[in-house]
Amino acid sequence: MVEKKKEYGILAMRQSVALGVYIYIPKLVISGTLEEKDGKTIFIDSTGSHYPLATEFYSTSESQLVILTVENLQFPKAQNLTSVEICLKLQEQAYRRLYLGFHDYETKNVKICSYSLFHIDDELEKSLREMNRGEDREKDFLGSALEEFDGDDLIPITKEELKKIVHLPNLEAIQKRLTELIDENESLTAHFLESEEGNDTFEPLDMEDLTGDRILEYFDKTCIAVRNERTLLGIEKIIQYFTEALKDIIAILATWETEEKDIDIACEYGFSLIDELHLILSSNRMEYIRNDLLNIQRTERINIKQLANVYDKYDRILKEEERKKTKEKEAMPKVVLPQGKIQAKEMKAFLDRFVIGQEEAKRMVISALVMNQLSESPEDRTSCLLVGPTGSGKTLIAETVSKYLDIPIEIVDITQITVPGYVGGNLEDGLSRLLMKANGNLEKAEEGVIVFDEIDKKGTEKNDDVSGRGVLHTLLPFIQGTTYNVKYNNKVVPFYTGKLTVFATGAFTEVANQKRKKGSGQGYHKTTIGFNTSLESPKKEDIVYPILTPEDFVTYGNMPDEIMGRFTTIAQLQGQTKESLKRILIEAENSPLLSEKKKLEKLGITLGWTEGYLDAVVEEALKRATGARSLKSTIEKSILDARWEAITNLGTYCSIILTEKTVVDSLDCELIDQEAVSHHLKDLLESTSTASMKVKEKVKNIGGILKK
Ligand code: ADP
Repeated sequence: MVEKKKEYGILAMRQSVALGVYIYIPKLVISGTLEEKDGKTIFIDSTGSHYPLATEFYSTSESQLVILTVENLQFPKAQNLTSVEICLKLQEQAYRRLYLGFHDYETKNVKICSYSLFHIDDELEKSLREMNRGEDREKDFLGSALEEFDGDDLIPITKEELKKIVHLPNLEAIQKRLTELIDENESLTAHFLESEEGNDTFEPLDMEDLTGDRILEYFDKTCIAVRNERTLLGIEKIIQYFTEALKDIIAILATWETEEKDIDIACEYGFSLIDELHLILSSNRMEYIRNDLLNIQRTERINIKQLANVYDKYDRILKEEERKKTKEKEAMPKVVLPQGKIQAKEMKAFLDRFVIGQEEAKRMVISALVMNQLSESPEDRTSCLLVGPTGSGKTLIAETVSKYLDIPIEIVDITQITVPGYVGGNLEDGLSRLLMKANGNLEKAEEGVIVFDEIDKKGTEKNDDVSGRGVLHTLLPFIQGTTYNVKYNNKVVPFYTGKLTVFATGAFTEVANQKRKKGSGQGYHKTTIGFNTSLESPKKEDIVYPILTPEDFVTYGNMPDEIMGRFTTIAQLQGQTKESLKRILIEAENSPLLSEKKKLEKLGITLGWTEGYLDAVVEEALKRATGARSLKSTIEKSILDARWEAITNLGTYCSIILTEKTVVDSLDCELIDQEAVSHHLKDLLESTSTASMKVKEKVKNIGGILKK
């Protein structure tokens, strides 16, 4: 028996790219023998599998385009080639570059991939060498070798283009055209990655009346927009909008009473998609980014649909509940205050935006104001006495009321007022300032708000009538309604006070202490830090407020009886706690932290913070025992350095992150630049200062050299 000679061949997959045009994609390097069967030559590998030799391949008149087949390579027995020779042959036949065609079913285009043979030689030679050594690796994936270089000049061309190429007269012309296409593709990629123009037409998801269908629709719209987009910047923007939409949807679900398993579904689908999108964007080839994003459309639609279903499920539940509620409401007779009058519910909602907590005080103030406007005489009106520790929101309530009613407000520091005829401030000055705030509109000023601040300082001090109780007596006609001669623009204007909304505020710690000592309080308000029930005189910040009655202010606070007769609304505010201070930071519309965030946003900088940061700011406020007063200054102090770095390097940073340590040292914070790289501010400044020191050092040395 004649021993059959071992041959090597490359098994190729045939693909039709156009009518009569095939491209062979090499898949395996195999070894076996060539045998005659039924008058045809076949290749049989060691397992006995048969491989027909390729007979068809496209050839132009002078040369062939890239076809690697067993036949084409002509490894067979006629030529006794060694593995090295096979490689050489391969190299020779493919003219140093191997062009492989890939059919893209999505775009109907053929992709021509050109591999440098320097890579393939190595891989091919390695695998052939191993086979020669008789190792049991009969089949070796050339494919995996190729994959490693996947993307090396991968370019898309249309079928039409391919047809034209294969009909070119000679190999040089084919190579020239392919090189041109590669160049064109490269410049396209460069444009895609660098172009400044972004997509201006794509819009963020409108969260009004959101439904599952609209979520899905937005996903489809995103995919189409990505496909049509010609720049990376544009794609990034579209993806950014989509990412924000996903995050918002998940955030909304989290605020509803969504079951944990459904939240998990939403998070899993949403966040894994976000991660995937960002990963794709980090690639730097136009074709890859486009293709991967297109693939996502197919594979992720089903996941987005699940997320959309979750949204719909809870949206339906919520809408059903709302429908029930409105039905109940409609069944009730509707009583609305006459137009122009205070609508209690609306006013409460307004106050809630600015004043956190202090529910009882807000309710008392609003109902007093509503009732006042229904009263028929000034005597029938009540003024509000707001009692509570520093920084609990007494002045804030009065200010917010004036903001809601759109009327001017004037805060009169009672400690600065003396009785008429003595040196010091008087009530007319306050009214004159109020008139100024109303731009001279007397009618508007007369319906304004007056706050007598620190009224307790007059009541409790037993000093003379000039600055003590005497002053309080002068308030009486003011509150009851009388006319003062007020100066405005060098003229004297008669100002009637009976229509003013009057507030008085004070901490009244003495009154609270005295009442506690007498032990006659019926209950206690918990305040500032902890709930102190000992009868010892508490520290200022530990003051515990018993519930105070108008008589208590007369008995323990020296407030004149008649005055208290006017302050029938006594609202007691709670001292700030850790929780309430934290809520003020992140919920109040005028929170110093949120207002800083809003301002920085206008410069394209996002302000972020850790939970630890909030805790540390709050801790600092509690230490100072001035309620919410110190929040603003603590925040201002902590953000100073990061803000300076960001605003002096506009366009460099996109985020500032404040941490627990930032409260102690404002340099101890993170800045994130446009490339998503995080910089620790202190290190950053130190490195630039060492860098500039190094430069100085160098200059010094050069100076030295020059001198020599
Ligand atoms: P006081 O009770 O001493 O009159 P203020 O009303 O002047 O305190 O409060 C000082 C600052 O603290 C306000 O400007 C506001 O920013 C903040 N503040 C105090 N209490 C609250 C609160 N309940 N909700 C929101 N902010 C508050």
